[in-house]
Amino acid sequence: MDGYSFYPGLAHAQELDRQDELSRFREEFYTSPETIYLDGNSLGLLSKRAERSLLAALNDWKQLAIDGWLKGDHPWFTMAEELGAKMAPLVGALPDEVIVSGSTTTNLHQLVATFYQPAGKRTKILADELNFPSDIYALQSQIRLRGLDPADHLIRVKSRDGRFLQEEDIIAAMTDEVALVVLPTVLYRSGQLLDIERLTAEAHERGIPIGFDGCHSVGAIPHQFHAWDVDFAYWCNYKYVNNGPGGVGGLYVNRKHFGRLPGLAGWFGSQKEKQFDMEHTFTPAETAGAYQIGTPHILSMATLIGSLEMFHEAGIDRLRRKSLLLTRYLMDLIDYELGGMGFAIGNPREDDRRGGHVSLEHQDAARICKALKENGIIPDFRAPNIIRLAPVAFYNTFEEVWRAIAVLKTIMTEKQYERFENRRNVVA
Ligand SMILES: *Cc1c(COP(=O)(O)O)cnc(C)c1O
Repeated sequence: MDGYSFYPGLAHAQELDRQDELSRFREEFYTSPETIYLDGNSLGLLSKRAERSLLAALNDWKQLAIDGWLKGDHPWFTMAEELGAKMAPLVGALPDEVIVSGSTTTNLHQLVATFYQPAGKRTKILADELNFPSDIYALQSQIRLRGLDPADHLIRVKSRDGRFLQEEDIIAAMTDEVALVVLPTVLYRSGQLLDIERLTAEAHERGIPIGFDGCHSVGAIPHQFHAWDVDFAYWCNYKYVNNGPGGVGGLYVNRKHFGRLPGLAGWFGSQKEKQFDMEHTFTPAETAGAYQIGTPHILSMATLIGSLEMFHEAGIDRLRRKSLLLTRYLMDLIDYELGGMGFAIGNPREDDRRGGHVSLEHQDAARICKALKENGIIPDFRAPNIIRLAPVAFYNTFEEVWRAIAVLKTIMTEKQYERFENRRNVVA
């Protein structure tokens, strides 16, 4: 990292905060003086602008009732398209290649229903054994819906070490039996960032369409989905995009696929001018909007209006730069302060291979997380042994990172974690 050297003291953390070109954004978020929130990779914090845009949507409903569909500052009828265009720079897409709609899992269902076309010898879906369970369940059920058996039609590329995937192993599994590849951009546990461009080129060389789950990269990392020729992608917006619990997700479909019939059709996927003709012949929109199904969840997407404004002001490249510096500093502190205590850093250390969080492994991870929470530090736990720590560029400071590791060191030296059971809570 250019111009960065590590010093362990608090003064250096404060110096890094002074040099932080994004520091002004922190005060736009609801942070608490009693806690250090390092869980923005599970649920991003509420910003004042997101709150205001949600209240404005409620006010439109109050004042305009049915007319809110076409009137107001953000008419509901085109809000998903409007927000999709505003999200496009976050994923490197053209404005009409992105739509805000559905959730990660429902969007995956939609895209697999569309792009999984088993034929002849090509009948299998290629995924990986480290992906998030919901993605795997969706793929299994889509295979079952085609009358096929997921036991032999879902290939899960193995990890050599339980943490990472090797691109070579994935490429080697792209055989002439594969009809579709679905992979994460960033692995949710280890934070490994895959080489999306290379995997896409290799899949296409073999005539296989490829899609990516961007849950752990959208809002944290720049993408070039269009330039890389990725076929489709899908993600949630409640992690790094800060649109609130259960907030509406997003999807991208490359322009070259426009005009296809979506696997799961519904009237909100219609061409806008035709939708209210109420014909029984479906005319899909010639945009990513075709992949919408029913009426958009307006109140669960209105927060994005405020949130995306901030992304535009900050710029995803600057956010990534700060995020890399935060996680670099966090890893350096862990190495320096927590040696000999049973910790291992389980994410890639290289800038171009890691996502937005640090994956800290320890055999007592579950109860260390409980002790951290009792001390006002909010991490999250991923079974069996991972403490995820996500310092988020928009609202975390270097000083918070320093304080979090100081507290963790005290927890370990005083063995505070031994007061807790080493088991996860219902929501970990
Ligand atoms: C967060 C996350 C999900 C969650 O899916 P929802 O449909 O939003 O509940 C799915 N996949 C990955 C990789 C995730 O990180």
